[in-house]
Amino acid sequence: MTEPEIVVKLGGAQGVDFSAICLDAMELLKSEVRLVFVHGGSAEANALGEALGAPPKFITSPSGYTSRYTDRRTLEIFLMAVNGKLNSLLVEQLQRLGVPAFGLSGMDGGLLQATRKDAIQSMENGKRKVIRDDYTGKIERVNAALLNLLLDAGYLPVVAPLAISEKGEALNVDADRAAAMIAAALKVETLILLTAAPGLLRSFPDETTLIRTLPQNRLSVALEAAQGRMKKKVLGAEEALKGGVRRVVIADGRVSSPISAALSGNGTTIQ
Ligand code: ADP
Repeated sequence: MTEPEIVVKLGGAQGVDFSAICLDAMELLKSEVRLVFVHGGSAEANALGEALGAPPKFITSPSGYTSRYTDRRTLEIFLMAVNGKLNSLLVEQLQRLGVPAFGLSGMDGGLLQATRKDAIQSMENGKRKVIRDDYTGKIERVNAALLNLLLDAGYLPVVAPLAISEKGEALNVDADRAAAMIAAALKVETLILLTAAPGLLRSFPDETTLIRTLPQNRLSVALEAAQGRMKKKVLGAEEALKGGVRRVVIADGRVSSPISAALSGNGTTIQ
């Protein structure tokens, strides 16, 4: 394979400009580049949950990570919002630009195989609680052959962050880590995480403290600076680099041509 391969994760936070990202993809595909999109969708799922009378619930692990609590009903709402709506709308936007987008979730063809976290610990009012009906997964394997099949045929795969368990259960997975695992499985050159920030900020939310480049061995610095969900991006970056990805760029998804900008050094480049 000689064409550069890029995995792009589209953040779901407000301000991330999907149409600018799709336009950029259209331009990039004119040269021989192979692109894979992975998107999140928590905001969309939260909104649908509110509308259906099932507002989102979050849990905080003893080590301080916050994640969505996904009982069966929440999982079904997640499917509707993320795979049903968001993935389809992205495919629609790309198709309108003449980009041969192929929408699929990590369940399709066993693209993302995960183990279900069958007992997770949650901190509530300073006390540890064990939750057993959560449909969240940790990705173990990526069916890279399936993605290569689509890429070889000229499609741009657009992946929704769901996975399938060994028992055949649908699982909600973290989109940043899904993108990282896909990037590592395909051994791509570049993983780009587009978000509603200029990159990784040393002192959030001060945008003048943007970290431009970071060697992999200084990721612990990044982990300290990152708050909340930004931590997952840094962990994803680490996983991707360990898996053989050459560089990870955390970059602004709110600008024009966000993918090209990230490729030319916009944002935080970790390598
Ligand atoms: P996405 O939907 O793109 O995955 P999230 O909202 O989950 O994004 O996480 C990214 C957000 O994390 C940024 O928009 C920013 O508000 C926040 N954040 C926390 N710490 C930092 C940091 N050190 N640098 C940049 N952003 C940070």
